[in-house]
Amino acid sequence: MNGSITLFLADAIADERGVLAAPGAILARWNDPWPSVDIIAAGDPKRVGDHDEANRATVCELPGCLITPGFVNAHAHLDLTSVGPRPFGRGAEFAHWLADIRQRRPQTETAIRESVRLGVERSLQGGVVAIGDIAGAWSVIPIDELRNSPLKGISFFEVFGLGEATEAVSRLDDMLPSVDLDVNGVRFGVQPHAPYSAGIRLYERANSLNREQGLALCTHLGESIAESDLIVRREGPIRSFLESLGLWTNEAAGDFGQAPTSVAHCERILQGAPWLVAHVNDCSDDDLQRLRATGASLAYCPRASAYFGHERDFGPHRYRDMVASGIPVALGTDSVVGLPPAESDRLSVLDEMRFLWRRDGADPTMLLGMATTNGAAALGLPPDDFRLSLGATAGLVAIPMAEKWDSDPLEAALESDEAPKLLRDESGSRLTATQGRH
Ligand SMILES: [Zn+2]
Repeated sequence: MNGSITLFLADAIADERGVLAAPGAILARWNDPWPSVDIIAAGDPKRVGDHDEANRATVCELPGCLITPGFVNAHAHLDLTSVGPRPFGRGAEFAHWLADIRQRRPQTETAIRESVRLGVERSLQGGVVAIGDIAGAWSVIPIDELRNSPLKGISFFEVFGLGEATEAVSRLDDMLPSVDLDVNGVRFGVQPHAPYSAGIRLYERANSLNREQGLALCTHLGESIAESDLIVRREGPIRSFLESLGLWTNEAAGDFGQAPTSVAHCERILQGAPWLVAHVNDCSDDDLQRLRATGASLAYCPRASAYFGHERDFGPHRYRDMVASGIPVALGTDSVVGLPPAESDRLSVLDEMRFLWRRDGADPTMLLGMATTNGAAALGLPPDDFRLSLGATAGLVAIPMAEKWDSDPLEAALESDEAPKLLRDESGSRLTATQGRH
């Protein structure tokens, strides 16, 4: 209910600055539309409880839970949600996988709409309140669905085209005048798919759309060995795939074989606009410097990288080196296709945080920053809306913590497997941590 006030009492509260109070309380006024709130007070429960507005608040107790701001999923493909998880065995080919997904992706308007709707539901179940979603299949339905949902962020319209990419450029130019660029907190952006499926001319057109109309830009970059085989050496399974589609022309081939890595291949493009690049599993020391110098943000999708086995090819992902060198690194889930089936009932960067905490022992506060303020900055949203500071906040999430914890409550929330809960106004009903459990 708009304007009503809730006092949340939890074991701890935390944001990208770390654990702010344990136990912790947040006094919040509900905004319209859900899930946004105005934080009136946050911190020590006694102090927050003494606030003038606290005596007319509904009390919501969340024992065993940590409260954080709502999450940002910086890279997702909601229109692939209905495809579901698919296996990718050791030795499988990335190019064959791409061909398989091309066939399985929803094709009709109704099927695309249903798939995005399912993705929105699973995002909300994962505590996600903002998203960088890739709208594939030349359809504006995904942006329409996002604008009718509680999620904020960007819908990146995905385009393909090698060489002069005349058809892609003219389809984009024909379509743009009829598209609203910013509605209900969801902006229209453009994503040239990847440097092996979009030529330099298409990337240049994207840069000019950023300069002329302020469109946000995203691309996949440095994802696979198959990609670098094509870009560096003009060979490999992606070349065979393009040949089988009749897309490997002299003109298309002319773009490739000029740069030592995928990042170097795109360096001049990345200098031309603020890009969000997804993956960059393939990142040399020189690439790290190139990325930093261009000012690009990165969307790292840890479970997707592990699913494809990219770390076997390229070594550990360099997200911590990137963060240390000042590259803004956000977290993404990529599509549901690459998620373990048991984890596919929600689409949450919390699960990416938990994955990195368990695999790498990554710093929990850094991870929370990647899942909130870094993602917000990468999507052009106000980072302050993803902190527990006073004023407008994009949403609040309660994360059940591991049963036993005695040191860091944020670590305890990452130890747990329990589902997060995006908080809503439930005046009168007393929430408990058990409601978040299976
Ligand atoms: Zn992707």
